[in-house]
Amino acid sequence: MSADRIQGVRGMNDVLPADEALWQRFEDTVAACMRAYGYHRIRTPIVEHTRLFVRGIGEVTDIVEKEMYSFTDALNGEQLTLRPEGTAGVVRSVIEHNLLYDGPRRLWYAGPMFRHERPQKGRYRQFHQVGLEALGMPGPDVDAEVILLCHRLWADLGLQGVRLEINTLGQADERRAHREALIEHFQRHASELDEDARRRLHSNPLRILDTKNPAMQPIAESAPRLIDFLGEASLAHFEGLQSLLRAQNIPWRVNPRLVRGLDYYNLSVFEWVAADGLTLCGGGRYDPLIGMLGGKPAPGCGFGIGVERVLDQMRAQAGVQPGSACDVYVVHQGAAALPAAVQAAERLRDAGLDVITHAGGGSFKSQFKRADASGAFAAVVIGDDEAASGEATVKWLRDAGAAPGEGRQQRVAMAALAELIVDALVAADPDA
Ligand code: ATP
Ligand code: MG
Repeated sequence: MSADRIQGVRGMNDVLPADEALWQRFEDTVAACMRAYGYHRIRTPIVEHTRLFVRGIGEVTDIVEKEMYSFTDALNGEQLTLRPEGTAGVVRSVIEHNLLYDGPRRLWYAGPMFRHERPQKGRYRQFHQVGLEALGMPGPDVDAEVILLCHRLWADLGLQGVRLEINTLGQADERRAHREALIEHFQRHASELDEDARRRLHSNPLRILDTKNPAMQPIAESAPRLIDFLGEASLAHFEGLQSLLRAQNIPWRVNPRLVRGLDYYNLSVFEWVAADGLTLCGGGRYDPLIGMLGGKPAPGCGFGIGVERVLDQMRAQAGVQPGSACDVYVVHQGAAALPAAVQAAERLRDAGLDVITHAGGGSFKSQFKRADASGAFAAVVIGDDEAASGEATVKWLRDAGAAPGEGRQQRVAMAALAELIVDALVAADPDA
């Protein structure tokens, strides 16, 4: 009887080696983009105190109300949560280590996030985000900068048709006046409100605007607009952002119902939306947050990108390059040949080659099948004969015109092996 099979946790995916080339390309492009704008990476823990997220994200949000993986540390009773997003942890770290002491900071992060949602396309329970936080800089120039960075990232990834939507949430006092008008509006439609909306009517009516319930769309569409409640300074900030976008020829649409899922935003908010309607990136300004989390008040602005959703777009649009194969596959047989094979492989790696040494025995024929399947440029063959004479046989696997496994071969002294293969590789592909 065999043991029962333990499956992965629902909504939490493995990233298999076949996908690695795509992930690598995404991660390399992100790192280069962040560097191009002067952002430095910060790595914070995956687990934080639950109250950090309750205070930082807001009690009346989807995340805090129903999506957090929270638990009590059985060893010391602490209330902990797997991070559902990256900003709260980064800001906590910045406050704790006083990173704004000598001026503003441009930071970025990447890693897994956890939300207990209903798994579906583009929505998982463990997913990945790449994000940035521009801290200590109040102006719309920074809002424009982070949007431009995203725009460049889509271009560098070869993505097309990612639309920019922006809005402004003004300041808290401006939202208060709007809130009264909103509540009045929704109360006039009380019988048409869904359960979520009824619950949020007095706690967070702004969030009703971004309802995904089709039946609620007309009521949300006809609601009073926040922009009509904004003062001069907020309007000027919004216009400042738009004029910089205009100057860089970045197209956008103002979406008055764009409010973002998190409570801490003010002034500019934005989303990048893919052609299939899924949001790839959400962000905006959150000037109150650092103060709310106990730091010396300082402005902030940032965004979070849903990595899986971007990878889906890349798969659909940009095509996927195959992962890189190894350079050399070492085939060996006989007791004396094994140490010689291990030794040869190590010297080849010293020379910068990627090498797989066959393991698990088998005939030469079956080993050559593996060598072919590996995509290697050359097989290095070491039998007892070669081992005794301090030599190796090189079999070129990717010779033009030769069938796989039937390329020509040559015998060389072990000392000349690495140079021979490196020279042949360079000759075959001078750019590599
Ligand atoms: P949504 O309205 O789609 O639920 P959100 O407002 O909860 O999004 P954010 O907290 O702003 O999303 O997260 C930033 C980005 O992370 C989203 O735009 C999306 O691309 C991605 N994202 C959010 N939740 C998930 C999830 N459960 N699975 C995969 N990606 C996600
Ligand atoms: Mg959500």
